[in-house]
Amino acid sequence: MKKKDIKDFSQSKLAEWLKENGEKPYRAGQIFKWVYLRQADTFDAMTDLSKNTRELLETNFNIGRLEKSNIETSRDGTKKYLFMLEDGEYTECVLIPGKERYTLCISSQVGCAQGCRFCLTARGGFKRNLTTAEIVAQVRDILHDLPRKEGDPETAKPFQNIVFMGMGEPLANFSHVSEALEIIMNTDYGLKFSSRKVTLSTCGLINRFQELGTQFGLNLAVSLNATDNETRSRIMPVNKTYPLESLIDACVHYPLNGRSKITFEYILMKGVNDSEKDAHELARLLSRVRSKINLIPFNEFEDCEFKRPDDAAIERFLTILLDKGYTAIVRKSMGPDISAACGQLRANQIRPGEMDKKETSDTTVKPD
Ligand code: SF4
Repeated sequence: MKKKDIKDFSQSKLAEWLKENGEKPYRAGQIFKWVYLRQADTFDAMTDLSKNTRELLETNFNIGRLEKSNIETSRDGTKKYLFMLEDGEYTECVLIPGKERYTLCISSQVGCAQGCRFCLTARGGFKRNLTTAEIVAQVRDILHDLPRKEGDPETAKPFQNIVFMGMGEPLANFSHVSEALEIIMNTDYGLKFSSRKVTLSTCGLINRFQELGTQFGLNLAVSLNATDNETRSRIMPVNKTYPLESLIDACVHYPLNGRSKITFEYILMKGVNDSEKDAHELARLLSRVRSKINLIPFNEFEDCEFKRPDDAAIERFLTILLDKGYTAIVRKSMGPDISAACGQLRANQIRPGEMDKKETSDTTVKPD
């Protein structure tokens, strides 16, 4: 019998399993504490469990770690991890330095099926969804590797912000992402990240917005990138299913936490979406949503079909949004010297023949 990865089990699912196997369900909390708070690598280390319970766990589960295939560190401190998964596929996550603490950008799929034309991940196509355990392990393993700060274990975490902005569309892998969120945001015995510190970025699969917001109350980021349906459908095929009007409507109804806002990512591409008219239209489009806007000048690469606008055009675009009263920033690329753009590290592992030469590269890693 193949052992199960214990990180595929939320606390309630594990409690259920224990009950079915003649154990006390509350032991799930004890086991969680060992796996996530004490970072145990063996069941034998769980000394407050009886020998029989430890043996039962050992027979049925493993507590694996991801195999780090490559780590690149940028001059600006950005660290990119490439993981080789059990089936030989690759995924990646990026640790981005901030003023005081890091932000961890994690992946939800191997590849992506959404086909955004500006995105490097899209070039390799979709391989598969990450399992719950593979999503959780990105957070658990990096926490394990970094030195903790002194003091309260709650605030001593080396990074407090997590963003689902790595490879893949998280809402297209909703069942595993939501199970992973249950563990990441389990504030009793799980990884203890508060909903205010977790952001999920989506290209706009609005059918999951209500469930996501109601169940987890986390921050939402929407990759927008155009102000009319024709342009958006051309660069982001998802727009043909969920056009701008329905996307904005879903954002208006997203159950935001307290005073928080939805982040709109807008990749500026020369001659595509960077005109003054686009800036005015963007301001009009977002007038009903509590929003902040991240402008991301397109990060050009060889053989890509899009260009970065010049600085004056970027400045003009920003000024229009600020004059209209929006919170807007131009975000700089992190780790440009280490392929720290969406899907690039994995792309380096894919043989050139597997890449679609017509498609182009993505932009930046996106710290909150
Ligand atoms: S931008 Fe995001 S949703 Fe679009 S193809 Fe890339 S990973 Fe997928």
